Amino acid sequence: MIIDVHAHHFLYTNPINVLQENREKGVYIIIENGLDPETNRKVVEISKKFDIVHPALGYHPVDIAKSNDSMIEQELKYITERINELIAIGEVGLDYYWVRDKISIEKQKKWFLRILELSEIYKKPIIVHSRKAEKDVIELATSYNSIIILHSFWKPSLTKLAVEHGMYISIPTFVYKDKGLQKIVQYTPLDLLLTESDAPFLDPIDKRNNKSWKIIYSLEKIAEIKGLNIGDIKAQIAKNFERAFDIEILC
Ligand SMILES: [Zn+2]
Repeated sequence: MIIDVHAHHFLYTNPINVLQENREKGVYIIIENGLDPETNRKVVEISKKFDIVHPALGYHPVDIAKSNDSMIEQELKYITERINELIAIGEVGLDYYWVRDKISIEKQKKWFLRILELSEIYKKPIIVHSRKAEKDVIELATSYNSIIILHSFWKPSLTKLAVEHGMYISIPTFVYKDKGLQKIVQYTPLDLLLTESDAPFLDPIDKRNNKSWKIIYSLEKIAEIKGLNIGDIKAQIAKNFERAFDIEILC
C-alpha cells in the first residue's frame, strides 16, 4: 500500500488519467493539497470524483506574499466553511527561497500564525512547506497544539528539533538519491515518518513528471536505511497516517 500525503495532481492536464495510473500501481491514499483560491476549488472537485483522493485546502506562502489581505481572509473563510470535509489544512507555511523581502516575509508569518490558529481551533492536521524557513516554521508551529506534517522538509540539522516536538516528517521521492534526505530518514523515528510525492514536482528521474506511485522508490530507500523490509515500512507508514489524520484505512 502506497500513501501520498502531499500531491498536486490537479496541475496535470489530465489528472484523472494520472490518478488512475496511481491506483493501478498500488496507491491507496493521496492527499491533494491546494495552493490558492483557484487550485483549492480543483482539489474539492477532484476529491469528489476519485475515492482515493482526500482533500487538503491551503494557501501557499509564495501565493500569500502575492495576494492582498482581503483575498486571503476570504479564502480562509472558504476553507473553514468546508473544514469537516477536509483531511487536513495544506499547503501552507513559509518560503524564504522565493520570497526574500522583509515585508513579504512578515506577511507570510502573520498569515501562517492565523492558519496555525485555525488548525488548532478546528483540530485539523496541517501540512507545512518550509523551504529555507525551517527554523521559523518549527518555532512558530510549536506554540500551537496542532498535528504538524513537515512536507518536503530538507534540513538534516533541524530534524531532531522537529521530531522532539512530535512533528511528522514527510519524505519526498528525492530520497531515492539525495544524501540530505537520507540523513533525515535516519534521524526520524519510525513512528513519525510519512511519504509524499509533491507531484508533479520533485521527480528524482524526469523533471516535473512525478506521480504518487513513484513513492515505491522512497519505500525501498527508507527500508534500506532503517534496516527493515518494505512490508514493515509500508505497515508502519499506514499506522502513522491513521494516527496523524485520525482516520482508519479500509482496504
Ligand atoms: Zn507542494
